[in-house]
Amino acid sequence: MAGRVKFLLRSALDILYPPHCECCEKPGSLFCKQCIKRIRWVRAPYCQICSLSVCGHISRAFVCANCRVRKFSFQFAVCGCEAEEVVRGLIHRFKYLGNTRLESILSRLLFHAWRDNRIAASPPDVLVPVPLHPLRQRERGFNQAAILAEALSQHTGIPCKSYLKRSLFTQSQTLLSRHERRQNLRGAFALRSHRPIVSANVMLVDDVLTTGTTLEECSKTLLAGGARTVKAITVVRA
Ligand SMILES: [Zn+2]
Ligand SMILES: [Zn+2]
Repeated sequence: MAGRVKFLLRSALDILYPPHCECCEKPGSLFCKQCIKRIRWVRAPYCQICSLSVCGHISRAFVCANCRVRKFSFQFAVCGCEAEEVVRGLIHRFKYLGNTRLESILSRLLFHAWRDNRIAASPPDVLVPVPLHPLRQRERGFNQAAILAEALSQHTGIPCKSYLKRSLFTQSQTLLSRHERRQNLRGAFALRSHRPIVSANVMLVDDVLTTGTTLEECSKTLLAGGARTVKAITVVRA
């Protein structure tokens, strides 16, 4: 029912305000063909842990220099596209300006990441969005990761569960170094319930992967809470 209401509202909005490209404002669709062409999809060769793309020809699977040194608690993270101008703009308007019309576009970019062969070989049991602190969620009105996780759940039929909560209000990570991000997020996440997660293979869902610190902190919390394995998926690899 909620989906139908949403659909009707959206159709009414489209009649009142005909869609235009959210990037270049060209009328006709929410995301025009020219802007779609500018997207840089994450394509091989990319790091098998953090999805960082590299130039050149590497025929076999490889791990980047950073991931060879730093060990993550999640098995790997897959990402839809790289953070060029078009996608950065979309994420910004979705997250900070509350333009939820972009949900369908960003979800499609996320579904692209889902096509990684390793997911088909071992699909997760449950999708878990990276949580926002309640204060930040109230300020923003929604959690972008939860919206994306719900869309992925509908696309795949895999249930979405909010196992995590943000127990500390932390400053924005945007301007922090890798080291500062780690300090900033230490102990920031907790399980929402005292009940353990029984042996589930979890996939964390978020909008952007930058240094992997947020996904790492969430993964540690999930594994300590009983998850068997953790993988991650994001729209963008920054
Ligand atoms: Zn456009
Ligand atoms: Zn890597």
